Amino acid sequence: MAAIAFDRFEDHLELLNPLKGFAPERQRIEVYRDPLLGHTSVYNPAIEEGLKVFLNEVDRELIARLAEESAKTCVFCPERVSGVARFPDDLIPGGVVKVGEAVAFPNLIAMGGHHSVAIVSRAHFLELHQLSPELIANAWLALRQVITAVRQRDPTAAWTTVHGNYLFPAGASLMHPHFQMLIGSAPYTQHARLAEACRAYLGREGTRYHDDLLQQERATGDRYIAATGRWHWLAAFSPLGSNEILAVHESEGDLLRVGERELRDLAQGLASILRLYQDLGHMSFNYTLYARREPETPDGFQCLLRVFTRQNPAPAYRSDDFYLQKGLQTELMLHRPEALAARARGHFANG
Ligand SMILES: [Zn+2]
Repeated sequence: MAAIAFDRFEDHLELLNPLKGFAPERQRIEVYRDPLLGHTSVYNPAIEEGLKVFLNEVDRELIARLAEESAKTCVFCPERVSGVARFPDDLIPGGVVKVGEAVAFPNLIAMGGHHSVAIVSRAHFLELHQLSPELIANAWLALRQVITAVRQRDPTAAWTTVHGNYLFPAGASLMHPHFQMLIGSAPYTQHARLAEACRAYLGREGTRYHDDLLQQERATGDRYIAATGRWHWLAAFSPLGSNEILAVHESEGDLLRVGERELRDLAQGLASILRLYQDLGHMSFNYTLYARREPETPDGFQCLLRVFTRQNPAPAYRSDDFYLQKGLQTELMLHRPEALAARARGHFANG
């Protein structure tokens, strides 16, 4: 096993702080570099003291009003869901896939190959703790039936990502809980970086990066959270989004090789993370689950889920995607990953 280097370095700022009578102050900025992909993230202990600037309160009155108004015309609500797009019958007989409360169908405007949507619940609005393992798993099982059908018909459909945009700060156009899926002939930027880095690591070290990462993170324990079946949960050392938690499958990189029981295990873990986010005061999140079709020669890729928080919905909320993220691809960390992992363990029954 190759030793993974967790590289941290520091920068600083000297200022005369007006909030402290212009007393001289030296702020220390910790910069974290992702061992696989090389992206950086920053943490400044002063942020946790002034967290309110970076984490606004949820405007519950606004949420209640938006939920009530948008439910009147929502096409994902049960009384109007018959109006959503359908797959051709020769791909999906009946045009949609239903599993429990979940309904999967094509997106009206595609942003990638075989762009599909899965409605997660009959309820128009749910808080994070109400997104249960069963609701999440059924949506994924419905989408997996779409992958199966697409793969039988389209030999180029190799790169699968499953996503969640929860509420408008995360980019959702509808409040109704729903997930999305793309199955493309080539990976998009971040997916390609991940796959290429996994392949290069395997070629260089002779082992899979995420096997080595899990072994090392479990041994030190600081960022390792828990396992749900063969999925392992850990706080990202250098996140792409705030409060980012990763789930890694210990062997498979193809969602069609991940059984129903294992998708339910993944849903169990995601529901636990969403309860953590609610506990930390968040209401909006994104996730991406990266997968690919099993290749003929080993490529070192393992299924990876990234989930992170977004700003809380409020009328004049401050975007959490500014020059740091858009221009520098560097995320601002609201907590150190070790502190986040410690907090997350409490939300896993066997953590
Ligand atoms: Zn609805």
